[in-house]
Amino acid sequence: MFNRITFTWLCIFLGICLMPLSAAALDEKAKLNQLKPKARKIFTEFIKQARKQFPKHKIIIAETYRTQDRQDKLFKKGSSTTTVRVSMHTKRLAADIYFIEDKKILAYEKAPYLELGELGESFGLRWGGRWSVPFDPGHYEVIQ
Ligand SMILES: [Zn+2]
Repeated sequence: MFNRITFTWLCIFLGICLMPLSAAALDEKAKLNQLKPKARKIFTEFIKQARKQFPKHKIIIAETYRTQDRQDKLFKKGSSTTTVRVSMHTKRLAADIYFIEDKKILAYEKAPYLELGELGESFGLRWGGRWSVPFDPGHYEVIQ
């Protein structure tokens, strides 16, 4: 019954189902790996704890390392992503972490960003939600 063809189709089926999941996980791991070891350790623990604390929410790491080239371009564009030329992202010490729903980043009012920020701070991170210019509730960085 459970012959080779059945087995092959089962593998293909499982492969297709698990692909997006593992791709997303790989993607996150790759992003974490772009950080300096100390930052990688903190953010890995932080995101793990965050998912435990907010099980009903989907939490993503949007960006970690940013090249100086990309930073300069964002800066020149006057993007809301950044208002600085020197960023902790280019130093591999920062990450942007958001709550998402239907692949869209949730607004500050629609998710427990403050609680997540406080959790980040308990890991010794500086949280962009404390800043007024720019108010950046998704941003976290290692304090040097
Ligand atoms: Zn950031």
